[in-house]
Amino acid sequence: MILKTRHRLDTIEDVEEFYAAIKREHLTRSLSEDRPYTYWTIELYDQANGIRGGGGLGILAADTRRVAEQMNVPLTLVTPFYPSELHQKFENGRSFDVSKPVLYEDFGFELIDTVNIKCNKDLVELSVVEKEFGSTRILAITEPNFGELYSGDSCGDHRLYQEVALGFGGYQALKLVGLKPAIMQLNEVATFFAALARLDELASNGMDFYEAVVYTRKHTLYTNHTLVQAAEASFSYDQFERYVFPNLRSKAVKKWLSDKFENGRIRLSSVTIEIAELRSGVSKLHARVANYHDLSGEKVKFKAVTNGVDIPYWVLPNIVKYYKTAGILDKFCLPTEDYEEKVELIEASTVRDLKAQGRAFMNQVLARRPDQNGEILNFGPDEIVFDFKRRFVDYKRPWLPFTDTVKLKRILQNHNAHYILTGRVHQGDTRMMARLNEVLDKIKGDDYLSTHVHYIADYDEELARALSVGSNVSINIPIVGLEACGTSWEKDVGNMCLLVSTHDGGVADAASDSYLNVSGSNEADEIESLYERMEEAASAWENDFDLEFWQKRQLSRYLPTVSGTRMLRDYLDYLF
Ligand SMILES: *Cc1c(COP(=O)(O)O)cnc(C)c1O
Repeated sequence: MILKTRHRLDTIEDVEEFYAAIKREHLTRSLSEDRPYTYWTIELYDQANGIRGGGGLGILAADTRRVAEQMNVPLTLVTPFYPSELHQKFENGRSFDVSKPVLYEDFGFELIDTVNIKCNKDLVELSVVEKEFGSTRILAITEPNFGELYSGDSCGDHRLYQEVALGFGGYQALKLVGLKPAIMQLNEVATFFAALARLDELASNGMDFYEAVVYTRKHTLYTNHTLVQAAEASFSYDQFERYVFPNLRSKAVKKWLSDKFENGRIRLSSVTIEIAELRSGVSKLHARVANYHDLSGEKVKFKAVTNGVDIPYWVLPNIVKYYKTAGILDKFCLPTEDYEEKVELIEASTVRDLKAQGRAFMNQVLARRPDQNGEILNFGPDEIVFDFKRRFVDYKRPWLPFTDTVKLKRILQNHNAHYILTGRVHQGDTRMMARLNEVLDKIKGDDYLSTHVHYIADYDEELARALSVGSNVSINIPIVGLEACGTSWEKDVGNMCLLVSTHDGGVADAASDSYLNVSGSNEADEIESLYERMEEAASAWENDFDLEFWQKRQLSRYLPTVSGTRMLRDYLDYLF
C-alpha cells in the first residue's frame, strides 16, 4: 500500500471557491506567480525531497508548502539544502550518530545558477537549486561545505554563516528566478537576514531609509516558536563585522543594525521584532505566554495561528476518505459547517476497521525498522499499541512512563499491550543521552519489558506517520508551559489514536476534557495520573462505548486545529 499525497485542487472553480471561503477575493491580486508568498526557514523536514529536519519547525514548513500547493496558493519556500545529514544508529544497546552525504541532484532539484556572499573577507559562492510543485517551489541554497542542520554552537561562526547564507543568498536567489516577495514569513529568527537583505536592497536603491523600514516591516511576518527570549542565541559585534556588515550596501542600514547591539552583543529575536510588524505564535497558549520585549522594553503581542498538519499527507488515505464521505471534512480538508453533528455518528466498528488498515501499513514500515533487540515487529489488528514518538529533549519527558516500571508493566500485562518508543537525542546533549540509556537499561533488565517495550532508532517522518496511522494510544507529556504547539498529537487525533497528554501547546487550544488529560500539581502526581490515563485508554479500546466517546470528543474538539488548510487560511487572513 502506498500513501497517496497529491490532492491538488484541479479546477479554477475549486480555487475560486477556496479564496471565496476565506473571503479574500483580492488575494488573487495580492499574490501571483511572480509575486508569491515567500516562506523562509533554516529547517525543512521533507525527506521525499532530500531534506531532513530536526523536528516540528521543519515539519511545519513542509506542511505549509504542501497545503499551499493543494490550494493553488503561489508560495516559494526558501531554505538551505544541507549536503549531509545525521542518522542515529543503534548497536550493542547504545546509540550514536553517523553522517550521510545527500545530493540535491538525486531529489530532482535543478541547478539555476550561483550567487555570492561575503564572509570573513572571502567571497563564498552558493549554488541556487530549485524544484517546482504546482503553484509552489522550493528554492534552496547550498555549497559543498555548508555542513549539517544545527551543526556546532548556536552562537558560533558556522551557524551565523549558514543563517547569513540563507538570508542574503536566498534573497539573491529570489531575484535570480525573477520573483518579488509579496510577503516574507520568517519561520523563527534564524531567517532574520532575509528581511535584512530586503531592507538593504530598498534602502540602497534610492528609497528613503525610514520608508524602506516601514515597507519591510509591513510585509514581514515573524513566526515565533520559542517561549523565552533569554534562551535565544546572540552574536558579537566582531562576528557581525566578519559575516553580516560586508553584505550590506546601505550605510543607513549598517548604522541601524549597529545601534541594535547591547553590551557588544545582538539578539536576533530583538532585531526580528524590529523588522517585522506582523508577529505570530504557534498556538493560543503560546501566543499568550511567549515573553518577548522589543528594544524599548514593550511587551510584544503575538497573533495566535495554531499549527495545523497537512491532513492528506499524515492521515491514512482511507480515514481521509471516510471523513469526506461522512461530511466531516470538505474537499479542502476543512471541517464542514456541521462536522460536529457528523462526528457524533461515528461508530466503533468503523474506527476499528480503519485502524486495522492503519495497522497493516504500520507493520509494513516496521518490517524495515527493527527494535533494540533486532526484532522485526508485527502487530495483529486487536493488539493494543502505545507510542511515544518525539525528539528526546528534557521538557518532553520521554522517561516519565518508566519511572515506575512495575506499574507500566501491569498496564501492559493487563491489556497484552506493547509500547513503542522512538526519538533522537540532539547531538551533544549528553544529559539526555544518559537518560535514554537509563531507560534502555531498565527495559533490558526486565524480561517482560524487553519483549513489550520497543525502542526504534533514527526517528523520522516515516516512523512518525506509520505510528500515527497504526498505533492506538499516543503519549504526549511535555512539562506544562514548555511546548509551543507540537504537531505529532494532531497527526494522532486525525488518525483516530487516543491521546494521553498534558494540557500544553496546541492541545490547550481546547478544554482539558477533550482527551485523556494527564495533570497534577507536581511530577509525582502527574506520573500517577499518566498511569491512570494509560489504563483508561487501553480499556477504551476494549469497549465500544468508551471508544466512541473519546473519538467523538477528540475529533469534535480538534479537527479545526488539526486542519492545515485552516492554518493556511488563518495566515492568509492575517496577512492580507
Ligand atoms: C510531526 C513530527 C514532529 C513534530 O513533533 P512534536 O514533538 O509534536 O512537535 C517532529 N519530528 C517528526 C519526524 C515529525 O513527523
